[in-house]
Amino acid sequence: MHDLHDHHRLQALIRPSVRDLPLYDPGADPQTLTAPNVAKLSNCENPLGISPAAARVITACTGAGLERYPDPTGKALRRLLGQHLDVDPARIILGNGSENILELLCLAFLDPGERVVTQQPCFGLHEIFPRMMGAHVDKVLPNHDFGFNLQAWQTALALHTKMLLLSTPSNPVGTALSGSELRDLVAAAEQDTLLVIDEAYYEFAVDQADALAILGAQSRPWIVLRTFSKAYGLAGLRVGYGIASHPDLIDALHRVRTPYNVNQLAQDAALAAWLDHEHLARSQAFVQAQRQRMSTALNDAGFRVAPSQANFLFIDTGCNGLLVVNELLKDGFIVKAWREPGYANFIRVSLGQEAQNDRFLGSLLRAVETLSPPPVFSSPQRSS
Ligand SMILES: *Cc1c(COP(=O)(O)O)cnc(C)c1O
Repeated sequence: MHDLHDHHRLQALIRPSVRDLPLYDPGADPQTLTAPNVAKLSNCENPLGISPAAARVITACTGAGLERYPDPTGKALRRLLGQHLDVDPARIILGNGSENILELLCLAFLDPGERVVTQQPCFGLHEIFPRMMGAHVDKVLPNHDFGFNLQAWQTALALHTKMLLLSTPSNPVGTALSGSELRDLVAAAEQDTLLVIDEAYYEFAVDQADALAILGAQSRPWIVLRTFSKAYGLAGLRVGYGIASHPDLIDALHRVRTPYNVNQLAQDAALAAWLDHEHLARSQAFVQAQRQRMSTALNDAGFRVAPSQANFLFIDTGCNGLLVVNELLKDGFIVKAWREPGYANFIRVSLGQEAQNDRFLGSLLRAVETLSPPPVFSSPQRSS
């Protein structure tokens, strides 16, 4: 029996930094929705689906070999990535999604009380994982046009910072750092600040810093994270990778990971997806075209939309985002409200298939019409 007494005893056992952690919000479960034509536009997945070459690897799998543990370091995939990226495979680590590598970085590098600087609004795990370690997270706001605010970053980085953690193209805003902005950012950080650049949407950007080249010219610790979840369409398999400044940084991550963190089928499928240049090129072209088309249509309809280099749009709806999300759910659209202070009216919408995007536009217009005049909400809520 769980009585109140048991509850308090358990709570007292949990590490305080864990007890107070916000729970990551994965969004609504499409299977619970009764609307016809449910469109899950909440998780920035590939609207064209999985790489067909990766799908063939999975359907051809008879199960033979799966009684064995997977390759613990994913040698074949790391070798291939190293070749294409011109990086020593010893500087590459695979993760059960790049989220896993974010977690490993926090486990290996953060002690209680240390300071992490990230952007606001931010990807939930960029705050949750550091806080899990008892680290303190400071967030830097963008400019009013959603651009990078160098002055604010310089101020934030002037205080001793253990880890700088930012996504570019950023989630949820979608903007990407330019080369000169990244150089300025690096120059503003102390030499012993670990730079973590999360490039989950790297493949979708047409205008962004070449982080590997810029950081590669530095003699300081850094890691760039990328993933097979977004442009390669393998979110369900969980494969991400990190490219670090030095094998010693990777070695620290190996010490804190579970020994078989990426399953064999995922490794094999990711390898095939990497070689499937056609699917990647089609996905990039599709996303870039839809991004342009939808941004223009939303602007024409009077919405403020952040300039996106990713496969999603960050939209100021002018109404409370949670209410908009609920209205959109009635039409079968699952999108995410951004509940950080200053962004209560924003939603993040992944680009879907063309017809879904068109339907979405109609539903969003209907939703804000239903909700206006916008109700005023004063209590900011936690982000995810
Ligand atoms: C989606 C996303 C990830 C997670 O990718 P996985 O490889 O699926 O774990 C990491 N960082 C950002 C900013 C993301 O948006």
